[in-house]
Amino acid sequence: MTFNELKRLDHQYVMQTYGRFDVAIERGQGATLYGFEGQEYTDFASGIGVASLGYGHPAWVKAVQDQAAKLAHTSNLFYTEPYIRLAQQLCTRSGMAAAFFANGGGEANEGIIKLARKYSFDKYGKGRSTILTLHNSFHGRTITTLQATGQDVFHQYFFPFTEGFRYAEANDMDSVRAQDGDDVCAVFLELIQGEGGVLPMDKDFVQQLAAYCAEKDYLLLVDEVQTGIGRTGSLFCYQQYGILPDAVTFAKGIAGGLPMAGVLCGEKCRNVLSPGTHATTFGGNPIAAAAALTVLEVLDDEMMNTIQEKGAYLRASIAAFGSPYVETVRGMGLMVGIVLKDGVDRAALVNACYDNNLLVLTAGPKTIRLLPPLVISKEELDKGLAVLKKVLTQQPS
Ligand SMILES: *Cc1c(COP(=O)(O)O)cnc(C)c1O
Repeated sequence: MTFNELKRLDHQYVMQTYGRFDVAIERGQGATLYGFEGQEYTDFASGIGVASLGYGHPAWVKAVQDQAAKLAHTSNLFYTEPYIRLAQQLCTRSGMAAAFFANGGGEANEGIIKLARKYSFDKYGKGRSTILTLHNSFHGRTITTLQATGQDVFHQYFFPFTEGFRYAEANDMDSVRAQDGDDVCAVFLELIQGEGGVLPMDKDFVQQLAAYCAEKDYLLLVDEVQTGIGRTGSLFCYQQYGILPDAVTFAKGIAGGLPMAGVLCGEKCRNVLSPGTHATTFGGNPIAAAAALTVLEVLDDEMMNTIQEKGAYLRASIAAFGSPYVETVRGMGLMVGIVLKDGVDRAALVNACYDNNLLVLTAGPKTIRLLPPLVISKEELDKGLAVLKKVLTQQPS
């Protein structure tokens, strides 16, 4: 099939909910993707932070193939080995006590919201169900997680939304206190606001917030759907903030390209979601869990150092372009935001990247977001950087 035929069929048979780039992808290897007419793209997007091991990683392919041949699905009515070993790995390496597996970030966030409300209900009874989230956050596309998202643009069309969320300013304890009340049970935040513009929280703020939550017995919930599973150079981003949340969600990169997500919680919450209170048919699926086990195996301590080094190299190289368009470069590990100056035509710069076969993402109103595969090679990084240099230092047309 040609690209044009594909595109025509998409427009005819698929709900047009996405503004896709004018690119079709047929296959990939490492951090390089190939189009239907032989185009070669350097991938600084990883399918939005999902393809953590890039494409065609031999150990990942073998784990998926072997598990698919052995046992694909059983539901959660039965024990299987992959999800149990995965839960053990995740808990051991995160300091958490127990896992619940889901299939996507929004669904995992629904789970953590249920966990917080039931924790409070079990202990304090009705009335303590409000969750504080932050302005400019992003937590998902379900009716509840849209409302958890602290951006007005997401609170349209789909009324009525789920009640019980209030929004505080990021990096502002006074704003958190102003939104507080005797109806609150938890605070839920991203440590680096991903969709909101790759905006890292201040360490000070996060530590004060953790102490505040501990004092009031509010659950401290962290959405690590984008920042988790090695993306920022530690298994979870909170490990670099010197805090231990009560619960955390993960999704995107966990299974290296298969749908998987989950909630991890500490000792205090391990029995909150008791039998009959929460479930999923697919969650913890053996193939996804086998894939995730391989991802965790690859993401050892040495690999975390490499991710930090590659991220630092990427940020320093971009800053060194001296681009007239760039205000600042920020992020942690291989989660990088190139923040553009006010008035710069971001779409033109992004299109120029695509015209030069570099896949990038956007975030917030004026950020170009880079989420390369965590295994990206120095050569592939340099190839992408060469395009960024050309695009970010060219004269405006
Ligand atoms: C992507 C994302 C989500 C939503 O995940 P889906 O898998 O698309 O449902 C939620 N929170 C954060 C921080 C995300 O980056």
